[in-house]
Amino acid sequence: MPELPEVETVRQGLARYVVGRQIQAADVLHPRAVRRHVAGAADFAAAVAGRTVTQVCRRAKYLWLALDSGDAVLGHLGMSGQMLVQPSTAAAGPHLRVRFTFADGGPDLRFVDQRTFGGMLVSRGGAQLPREIAHIARDPFDPLFDPEAVVAALRRRRTGVKRALLDQTLIGGVGNIYADEALWRAGLHGDRLAASLSRPVAHRLLGHVTEVMTEALAQGGTSFDALYVNVNGESGYFDRSLAVYGREGQPCRRCGTPIRREPFMNRSSYSCPRCQPRPRQTARASAVTQHPRPRQRVPE
Ligand SMILES: [Zn+2]
Repeated sequence: MPELPEVETVRQGLARYVVGRQIQAADVLHPRAVRRHVAGAADFAAAVAGRTVTQVCRRAKYLWLALDSGDAVLGHLGMSGQMLVQPSTAAAGPHLRVRFTFADGGPDLRFVDQRTFGGMLVSRGGAQLPREIAHIARDPFDPLFDPEAVVAALRRRRTGVKRALLDQTLIGGVGNIYADEALWRAGLHGDRLAASLSRPVAHRLLGHVTEVMTEALAQGGTSFDALYVNVNGESGYFDRSLAVYGREGQPCRRCGTPIRREPFMNRSSYSCPRCQPRPRQTARASAVTQHPRPRQRVPE
């Protein structure tokens, strides 16, 4: 599944190849690809035909092409989606879902998606920020990301800190892998109550989240050649640089203790039992869940 750094790589590539070009037509080859465009495929095609792409933007793992009409083509890659910039003469593969041709006769933009979990829609008036994703918070790559505000919000959460990191309304685009890696760097167990973190510790944790994602963008950004923008869902970064994720039983890179795996929201959490001890009862998120108390204002 493409993670945020790969989606950002795709955004940068698309910005280079499609901004300023006028879309001639959009051919929807599989209705599932535009299932979230409730007005249907013909309406989707009509909304983009003749429009010029003014910008390529991203919020968490959503991408959108801002159009000169003020609308946006909003897309999510899902599990296996790819945005390919290919010569219009290139053969259509079996998983081509939507094909955009351009008035200049240059390369197409092709949305290819084997498993069809991804998709596109036209967001009316969404060029600045599609309302469909307005609830998703900014991520650390966003120029307007505000660490102070995120730290303050994090410290108001009466959930485990990992759960808070994965909450897209708090901080966008942090997946399971980044959360585990950042928690390991910070020496925090994911079940630690977010509201129990001191301001410096919360800042340090957020710094580690940013650092992990920045390294992934620098090292693992999917390569693309001229005329070929691709997300393959795999990142070299994850093979080489992971400290805990997927490393159950292997030695901690800091202290040598075997990495543990624990169930977490139908998935797994990986951590070092020594570097990231389980929190004491009073600082554990589950303690709050089991014994709900009235919301308290957390001292700053
Ligand atoms: Zn360790």
